[in-house]
Parts: sequence; structure tokens; C-alpha cells
Amino acid sequence: MKKGIVVGGGLAGLSASAFLADKGFRIELIEAAPKLGGRAYSFEDENFGCELDNGQHIMMGCYKSALEFMKLIGAYDNLSVQKNLSITFVGASGAEYKLESSWLPYPFNLLSAILNYKALSFRDRLNVVLFFAKFPFISGGSVQQFSVAEWLKNENQNDEIVKALWELISVSALNTNINKANAKMFLDILKKIFLRGNSSTLIVTPEYGLSKTYCQNASDFIQSKNGAVSVSEKVTEIKIENNSAAEVITNRRRITDFDFVISAAPLFAAEKFLPNIKEYISSYPALEYSSILSVHLKIINNPLKEKFYALIGSPVHWVFNHSDYITIVISDADLLIKNSNEDIISMVKGELKKYLKIETDTVTNSRIIKEKRATFIPSREIINTRPGYKTKLNNFFIAGDWTNTHLPSTIESAVASGKYISNYLVLKYS
Ligand SMILES: Cc1cc2nc3c(=O)[nH]c(=O)nc-3n(C[C@H](O)[C@H](O)[C@H](O)COP(=O)(O)OP(=O)(O)OC[C@H]3O[C@@H](n4cnc5c(N)ncnc54)[C@H](O)[C@@H]3O)c2cc1C
Repeated sequence: MKKGIVVGGGLAGLSASAFLADKGFRIELIEAAPKLGGRAYSFEDENFGCELDNGQHIMMGCYKSALEFMKLIGAYDNLSVQKNLSITFVGASGAEYKLESSWLPYPFNLLSAILNYKALSFRDRLNVVLFFAKFPFISGGSVQQFSVAEWLKNENQNDEIVKALWELISVSALNTNINKANAKMFLDILKKIFLRGNSSTLIVTPEYGLSKTYCQNASDFIQSKNGAVSVSEKVTEIKIENNSAAEVITNRRRITDFDFVISAAPLFAAEKFLPNIKEYISSYPALEYSSILSVHLKIINNPLKEKFYALIGSPVHWVFNHSDYITIVISDADLLIKNSNEDIISMVKGELKKYLKIETDTVTNSRIIKEKRATFIPSREIINTRPGYKTKLNNFFIAGDWTNTHLPSTIESAVASGKYISNYLVLKYS
């Protein structure tokens, strides 16, 4: 039985470990933090009296690898999957506009969703439908030189359409400004969501805090398959000898009895335990990062009826309704996070009052979480320099949302990277 060390217990490390453990590999997963989950975790908040996520995470039906992983570890039932695509957009006047697929068969249900999306004039809705109809025929290569903003302009998507539809989708999926995000990556996502059948369009949300939703299941699964999971253990060095990883050194021990090592740490973290990693990977992306600002607000007399809302033209992008508290998500938040917590709360309360009629004095508690390196920015330079999972070393591999999965920095990218490396190792050692 081959033994592998996996460094990092985020979604990439957990999924690589689970997929490999399921195929009979003996896996030892080492995580530096006291808990699993990496950038997708939850914690108990005494003031809220419940678990809060470090940031609301959503998945979509097109997250094939992530959903396969959730099924494998027995966490799928902890997810809530929409029956049909339904998003409530809200304008600054408080008017609600549904983007909702109908009873018609796919893809007519999606076309009817757009034709009934009343945040846009009928003429603009037709314009969007025509743009949709072109997707299958637009190749990624033909738009790669453009930013999302440039591409949308070339495709006659006017300012109203961009503001009421594309900007919110793009900033949420790519966590960066439409002027910086690369059009190819956006086109690839739109194709994955809208051209792969009805189930791909559905929004999937965790039913519980993220740690309860999947971290415990993943850890139990790996251990049930003869694996080991160690937290609060930091890998400090990986020694290379004869073009192979020979020793993994942690703050607790030195490990030599393994056949291979997978680094599922972010690039900046991997560079600390393997400073020469640049020499070993197939290409080196000069990653830049973008922040996500999350604000949890405990409220009384919650007036919200829907599970989540997208706010048109607001610095607050999404509001998630958890009944006795709500979670505000602000993507691409590098500038906003520099503000004081008081200023952020005051801005958020103002937007909530304007858009959703939530009275300021119904907010009884708040918790702000600033994730500075939430995701990497998918610029043109970056998407062409992300390395594959194989390295120039014989037994050292990489995983993580930043590796070359052709996906933006998401749960799906992290889990897809875990799946790719596990598929490769299963073949290599069979
Ligand atoms: C606030 C927020 C909201 C988000 N929302 C969404 C969303 O709605 N949908 C979506 O798809 N994606 C979302 N994302 C992105 C998603 O969370 C990430 O893409 C994904 O979790 C990355 O997983 P990963 O395993 O590649 O990396 P990480 O989660 O960063 O995991 C790497 C792990 O390696 C560990 N590590 C580092 N160095 C060492 C060491 N020396 N020794 C041992 N362990 C080490 C770290 O502690 C960490 O646990 C969001 C991210 C944030 C921050």
C-alpha cells in the first residue's frame, strides 16, 4: 500500500486525501492551523450563539468535482440544492426582480428567465438572449486578450445590462473588478453554468456552518480508510535529495516513510517550506490576491423572505438570510477593508435600509471578517502561467485552487485539483 503525505487541510488537501484514501492509499494529512477547511471554515461565535463561516460560500450545480467529493465523504445531505435557478436581485429603490427559470424544458427555461428579468428593459433582455445564443460559438482563445469589461462592450452589452446582470455575476465568480478579470475565464464559467444542462445552473448552499458541513466528514472519511489527520502541525521544510522529496520536517517530527508528497498549500505558504519551488513547478504564476469582506449581523424582526439577495449597483453584493442573522458579502474589497469597522458597519446598515428595508436599530450584534488573500486575481498573465500538478521532482506534486485547473479561485478549482492529482497517482501506482 503506497503512502502519501498531504500538506494542507483546505479543500484541495482534503479532497486529494479522500479520493486517494478511497482508492486504498495510506494518507497522512498535515494541517498547520488548529482546524481543517483552509479558507472555507466556520467557528463558534459566543455573541451570535452559533457557528459563523469565515465567509458565506456558495457552490453551483456545475461544481462537479466538489459535489462528487461531498458525496464521497457523506456530506452531500448537508447541502441545500435549488430545485430551479432562482436569484432575487434588488434595485436601489427596494424593487425586487427575479431571475428565475420556468417550467419549460432546458434551455428554454433559462431563456424565459432572462426574458422575464424585469430589472432590464425588454430590448436589453433580447440583447442578453442573443448574447447567450452566441456562447457555444465563442472560443476562449478569441476573447483571451480582453478584460471582462472590454469583451462585454464588444458584445454590445450596454451599461444597464452590465450593472444589473454581468457585473454581479463576474465579481462574485472572479472576485475582481470587471476591468481586471480576464474574459476567457468569465466565458469558461458562463459556459459551465449555462451550457451544461439545467442542474449546472442551480445554486448550492451549505445547511450548516462550513466545518460541520464538510470538514468533520472529510476527516472521519480519511481516518476510516486507514489514513491519519493531524492539525496544529506545521510543515517547516521539505528536504530534496536525488530529485525527490526525501524528508518532511514539521514543528513536531521528521517524516521519511512515504512514497510521495502532495503540497496542497497556497503558493506563498509552499514557498516557505520549499523555497526553491519555483525551480520545480512547470511554470510560476506571479499571483496577486483580492479580498472578500464578510459582515455577519444579528437582527431581530428579520423582514427577509428569500434565502439570498443580489444588490444591483451597491457596494454590498450579496445578502444571505440565516433567519436570526444575515451575512453580507462584499467581493473585490481591497479598498473597503481599509476602512474602520465602524465605517463599514455604518455603510452596510445604510445599504440594507435602502435596498431591503432593514431598520438600523434591529441590528443587535455584528462580526466583520476581512479575508485579505481570499482568492487570486484571474488576470490574463496569471491564467497562462498556472502550473500543472506534476513537478520536476519524482515524488512531489501540487494541488490547490491556484494550480492549473482552468477555473477561477473557487471550491471547485481546489477540489478539481485534488481530483486530478489523485487520478494521476492511481494510474501511476497501479
Ligand atoms: C471569504 C471567502 C469567501 C469565498 N467564497 C467562495 C464561494 O462562495 N464559492 C467558491 O467556490 N469559493 C469561494 N471562496 C474561495 C474558496 O474558499 C477557495 O478557493 C478554497 O477554499 C481554496 O482551497 P485550497 O485548499 O486550495 O486552499 P486553502 O483553503 O488556502 O488551504 C490551504 C491549507 O494549507 C494549510 N497550510 C499552509 N501552509 C502549511 C504548512 N506549512 N503546513 C501545513 N499546512 C499548511 C493552510 O493552513 C490551509 O488550511 C471564498 C474564499 C473566501 C476567503
